[in-house]
Amino acid sequence: PDRLDGLKALVTGGASGIGLATARLLAARGADVAVLDLDPSGARAPLHGIKADVSDETSVREGVGAAVERLGGLDILVNNAGIGAAGTVEDNDDAQWHRVLDVNVLGMVRTTRAALPHLRRSAHAAVVNTCSIAATAGLPQRALYSASKGAVLSLTLAMAADHVREGVRVNCVNPGTADTPWVGRLLDAADDPEAERAALNARQPMGRLVSAEEVAAAIAYLASPAAASVTGTALAVDGGMQGL
Ligand code: NAD
Repeated sequence: PDRLDGLKALVTGGASGIGLATARLLAARGADVAVLDLDPSGARAPLHGIKADVSDETSVREGVGAAVERLGGLDILVNNAGIGAAGTVEDNDDAQWHRVLDVNVLGMVRTTRAALPHLRRSAHAAVVNTCSIAATAGLPQRALYSASKGAVLSLTLAMAADHVREGVRVNCVNPGTADTPWVGRLLDAADDPEAERAALNARQPMGRLVSAEEVAAAIAYLASPAAASVTGTALAVDGGMQGL
């Protein structure tokens, strides 16, 4: 039941990090997979890379349309594209709030809106949103990012309730700090990236970061027929940080 043969999947932000690991795993399990990304060059065959910006309604509509045309339908949507923001409420201005909420929250709304007519025709329809332990953990210096992921968690529960009778399941994963190019960029910006990485690892309960592949495995489970009775839930993959 964890095989995905014959299923058609779309992963946003699927050209890097958690999204790329997810797209590759879904394909390895037999799905035909399209990736929507600002820069799809990281998503190589057999993945179908499509350039699109989840913060732009027209771009999303065209991108989802192109994916459905190439795949011949849609069963699985992974809403994964997201951006970070550091700081307290005093550090980010309104423009930054609008930008991050536009990508992290409205990006999922737009993509799901465009995908739902196709998902309703599937016998195995599943949406998986990439949330974060930031939704519930009360992390310092992450006011805007946490608020955006809190909205993703609530959106996941509401969408699950709205679409359960249409046969569309909606769940989310809550990664802890995951070893992706995103975190790599943050470490590279430090004075001593190696020391910073060691300190970051030491702060994790397991002494190491979560891998992108471990998060992908949780997403693939929630997307698979094995999870046919699972909807409206958040699966933490956080190495014991216990954000929930
Ligand atoms: P990443 O930066 O490695 O990959 C993100 C991808 O999304 C990139 O390919 C980027 O081009 C794409 N993207 C960004 N904005 C986009 C837009 N407007 N339209 C289309 N594509 C866009 O990041 P990652 O660490 O793999 O993060 C993926 C998701 O996981 C995000 O939603 C993030 O919030 C979440 N997450 C990450 C961590 C972590 O520690 N890395 C922890 C919890 C949650």
